[in-house]
Amino acid sequence: MISVIGGGPVGSYASYLLVETGFDVSLYEEHKEIGKPIQCTGLITSSLSKLVKIKNDLILNKIKKSRVIAPDGNFIEFNLDKPDFLVDRSEFDRFLFDKSKEAGVKTFLQHKFISNEGDKIKFKNKIVKSDILVGADGPLSQVAKSNNMFGGRKFLLGLQARVKGKFEKDTFVSSFGDVAPGFFTWIVPENEEIARVGVASTENVAQYFDKFVKWKILDKQAGLLPIYNPNINTHKNNVYLVGDAATQVKPTTGGGIIPGMFAAKELAKAIKYNKNYDELWKSTIGKELSTGLKVRKILNKFNNNDYNYLVKLTGQDRIRSIVENGNRDFPFAMLLKLALTEPRFIKFGSKVL
Ligand SMILES: Cc1cc2nc3c(=O)[nH]c(=O)nc-3n(C[C@H](O)[C@H](O)[C@H](O)COP(=O)(O)OP(=O)(O)OC[C@H]3O[C@@H](n4cnc5c(N)ncnc54)[C@H](O)[C@@H]3O)c2cc1C
Repeated sequence: MISVIGGGPVGSYASYLLVETGFDVSLYEEHKEIGKPIQCTGLITSSLSKLVKIKNDLILNKIKKSRVIAPDGNFIEFNLDKPDFLVDRSEFDRFLFDKSKEAGVKTFLQHKFISNEGDKIKFKNKIVKSDILVGADGPLSQVAKSNNMFGGRKFLLGLQARVKGKFEKDTFVSSFGDVAPGFFTWIVPENEEIARVGVASTENVAQYFDKFVKWKILDKQAGLLPIYNPNINTHKNNVYLVGDAATQVKPTTGGGIIPGMFAAKELAKAIKYNKNYDELWKSTIGKELSTGLKVRKILNKFNNNDYNYLVKLTGQDRIRSIVENGNRDFPFAMLLKLALTEPRFIKFGSKVL
């Protein structure tokens, strides 16, 4: 018997994979409704199609271009090899939750995990027995805390709003530099009139948000983005962590849905074949997250001039085509190609290290 805590996308997907593998799986969510509150933009790369086939009506928009704006106002634009999907996060979460339920997962809403000891799991309203406990309970994972697996985690704070204005429907816009130290600002259009705009940073996020968001705000959200910890221990005795609970979030973009779902696949494999889960996911998706972390550490040392220069370098046609054809979920191969094609990237990286 396996108990999964957290009915977010990663918990539902992990439950689905585990029940399909033949286990008896129960999925517990603290809220009375799946997908609420929303704390996400809902932008998902095309790698999703390697994991699950979603219904077309979950996709609100397809993003075909990415524009990166430097502090001096110059920008580069990339055509995405395959479009990104903008989904309604609530509907997306419900879709995965229902999929797990249809496959045979027993689901429980309004079940807040409190702690565990041996095979006993304590919820706010009851105690159950379980052989395996999976914490897919998000950035502030109580499962991690309860099992001394939380460690000294670090987070970025993200502030986002749905706004009304004029937008280019197929273009995702991000700006770097002093507008959002340690991260970036984003504009992700739902259509020509409505967009999800936001900022994440290590400090003073509200101040950067107020400076950036000049459109009419329809609603507002805030959430934590865990900073990937490559040394995290995600398996102890009969307890496993996955998704945001395991800091499996891309350090470059803050995207956590795809890496969390890839890690869920490794989790199902590890439990089924009694393999080392830490080793399995760290040698696959974790390798890519570590590459992203190195890039993030370099970017965190950039000043406005460095960003201006980076945008200029990346604007060259031969560089642009490598970025356009690369897979952003698996950046290792792309970065290697970039470094071989334009040695100034290496010089540039080492200059700020
Ligand atoms: C502003 C912002 C924008 C973002 N935009 C994107 C984006 O565009 N694309 C992308 O890929 N990622 C994005 N992310 C990151 C993304 O939201 C997360 O990586 C993703 O939600 C992780 O999924 P998860 O299932 O691991 O955790 P969560 O989605 O956090 O789900 C955890 C679930 O566990 C439940 N839970 C928590 N504690 C308990 C408990 N004690 N008992 C029972 N249940 C519990 C919660 O209610 C929740 O349902 C964004 C994050 C922020 C903050």
